[in-house]
Amino acid sequence: LFVAFEGGDGSGKSTQSGLLAAWLREQGAEVLHTREPGGTALGTALRELVLHGADGSVSPRAEALIFAADRAHHVATLVRPALEGGNVVITDRFLDSSVAYQGAARRLGHDDVRQLSVWAVEGLVPDLTVLLDVPTGEGRARRGEVHDRLEREADDFHDRVRGTFLELAAREPDRYLVLDGTLPPEELAASVRARVGALLGS
Ligand code: C5P
Repeated sequence: LFVAFEGGDGSGKSTQSGLLAAWLREQGAEVLHTREPGGTALGTALRELVLHGADGSVSPRAEALIFAADRAHHVATLVRPALEGGNVVITDRFLDSSVAYQGAARRLGHDDVRQLSVWAVEGLVPDLTVLLDVPTGEGRARRGEVHDRLEREADDFHDRVRGTFLELAAREPDRYLVLDGTLPPEELAASVRARVGALLGS
């Protein structure tokens, strides 16, 4: 089973994916909990480059290619082998993040960025994508101090990210679980467990 968590910055992805991973492990499942950008050694180096830039600057197409390179390596060396070994794989961010950030927010084009990412991962699609939807202002408040180049973007950038995630979810309602990320964490975790439990047939 392959589960992706998506949502804007400050939406609570790492909290919720961590809670799901812990619950699945309690149930006896083998779990790989990973993230993009950065789940591998190459990914960690690329994450540093793309978030801070060698000299603070990364052009939009270079940014899209770095995220795609990170994802290609992540899927080939970590995600696919874990799935083939029978693990549940949980990732913080996947392909939808590129469509939302580089495709929509950076205006590189939804379809071009999607195609690049699909090529990078050889067509791998999550069984379930959990979208934690949080209003842009709320996400900004939760992030507090800004850590990277992308978090510094204006609200309209983050509005385009949010709108694109919601649009992607609306296209495939059966493969998405859209949650109001402002709800209490324990309530969100229970909704995620219910859906993942059903998928695992437990
Ligand atoms: O979720 P996380 O904090 O790990 O993401 C790191 C940064 O990378 C965030 O600021 C996010 O906005 C950005 N990002 C991006 N495009 C992607 C994936 C992440 O701009 N495809």
